[in-house]
Amino acid sequence: HGSYNQKIDYVFKIVLIGDSAVGKSQLLARFSRDEFNVDSKATIGVEFQTKTLDIDHKTVKAQVWDTAGQERYRAVTSAYYRGALGALLVYDITKRESFDHMARLIGNKSDLGSLRAVSTEDAKEFAQSQNVFFMETSALEATNVEPAFVSVLTEIYRIVS
Ligand code: GDP
Ligand code: MG
Repeated sequence: HGSYNQKIDYVFKIVLIGDSAVGKSQLLARFSRDEFNVDSKATIGVEFQTKTLDIDHKTVKAQVWDTAGQERYRAVTSAYYRGALGALLVYDITKRESFDHMARLIGNKSDLGSLRAVSTEDAKEFAQSQNVFFMETSALEATNVEPAFVSVLTEIYRIVS
C-alpha cells in the first residue's frame, strides 16, 4: 500500500545517453523493475520508465527516458531531451571508445573487471576535471544502480526545491 494514492511532489525527467550496447536499457530495467535480461534486444522506439522514490521526505517520480537504439546514428532528436532536468551518460568500462565519446560518466559493467579497459582512476580524474559526478555500476549485479539514479535526482531536487 502507499504507492496507489501517493501524492507526487515532483516529476523529474532524466535521459540516458551513451553508445549502443553500454547497458543503458539494462540499467533502466534494473532501476525501474529490478530486472536484468541477459538477452536484451536493442531498444525499439523511444520509451521511458518511471519509478517513484523518496528524496528528503518528498515523493519524487523519476521519468527516465531510454534511446531507441538511434545512438548509432547520432540521431537522437530534440524531443528526447525536451524537458529533461538531468542526464546519465553511460559508458562501458570494457570499451575504451564508449568512454572517449562521453562527456560525463556512469561506468557500467563493473562486474567485468578482468576485461577492464577504462581505469577507475582515469574516469575519476576526468570527472573531477569536469566537475561532474562519476560512479561505476553493474546492471547485472545491481551494484550502484539506484545510487547513480538517486544522485542525479537529488541534484535536480536541490536545484528546483
Ligand atoms: P544499450 O544499447 O546501451 O541499451 O545496452 P543494453 O542495455 O541493451 O546492454 C547491452 C549488452 O550489455 C547486453 O548484452 C547486456 O546484457 C549487457 N550488459 C548491460 N549491463 C551490463 C552489466 O552491468 N554487466 C554486464 N556484464 N553486462 C551488461
Ligand atoms: Mg538500449
